[in-house]
Amino acid sequence: MDKYLIKPDKKIKLSEWNTRETSLWEKNKEDAKSELIKINEEVEKLQELLFAEKKHKLLIVLQAMDTGGKDGVIRSVFEGVNPSGVRVASFKVPTQIELEHDYLWRIHQQTPAKGEIVIFNRSHYEDVLVVRVHNLVEKEIWSARYDQINAFEKILFEEGTTIIKFFLHISKDEQKERLQERIDIPEKRWKFSNGDLKERTLWDDYQKAYEDVLQKTSTNYAPWYLIPSDRNWYRDYLIGTILLEKLKSLKMKYPTPEEGIEKIKVI
Ligand code: ADP
Repeated sequence: MDKYLIKPDKKIKLSEWNTRETSLWEKNKEDAKSELIKINEEVEKLQELLFAEKKHKLLIVLQAMDTGGKDGVIRSVFEGVNPSGVRVASFKVPTQIELEHDYLWRIHQQTPAKGEIVIFNRSHYEDVLVVRVHNLVEKEIWSARYDQINAFEKILFEEGTTIIKFFLHISKDEQKERLQERIDIPEKRWKFSNGDLKERTLWDDYQKAYEDVLQKTSTNYAPWYLIPSDRNWYRDYLIGTILLEKLKSLKMKYPTPEEGIEKIKVI
């Protein structure tokens, strides 16, 4: 999976990253789906362990262009995990109170506690993406944020949080198809807003902003993975696999039970 791991300071040109490729899966799509079911079962067990051990905190950041598939990943990869230990935090346009604080204020409140997995559906990265593309603050302000974000994530890491960040990379053509589907299929219309078309006209600006994010904020302690995402099954398979590898690497164990417990007979 290192193929998709962005090394610190690596210069990124998104147009050179194929969004449709499926090179790490040689069999067919159906087999990948069955594989994901097996991965999910293992993730489920390890999540239970993480919850029981109450030692590690896992933060997963999902970022993508509109229609990139963040919701799909949350549904497919975290299917079956115990809802008591897993939480999704979605970051929308900031409220008035949020805007009156610094941009990390609302983010820090949602970071995982011991034993918890938190998935960020959008994140503090919006503050160097939409905020930059729409000039919501001056350049001087947003351009200082990459270092601030790295420092913030370093604090989380040093205090015991494991961080994995995924950028779901789709092509402009794929987005066109997905947006059209949201218009054509009545059950999908609720997902569509006219604003999406306006954002689409800013595609190149967003790609540039994402290139900077990937180059400046992929660190050893909070790495980015650039996931080819035109094919949902491949995207889910990759993210499931990376998540499972990460959970295994935590070398978790169940907490030591009270002494002598094994001799107790419940009457
Ligand atoms: P999603 O597209 O994630 O499913 P929405 O359609 O509700 O959810 O979109 C959320 C919107 O909030 C996006 O347009 C996103 O750019 C915006 N947003 C998130 N964070 C910020 C921020 N810090 N400043 C401005 N807009 C933001």
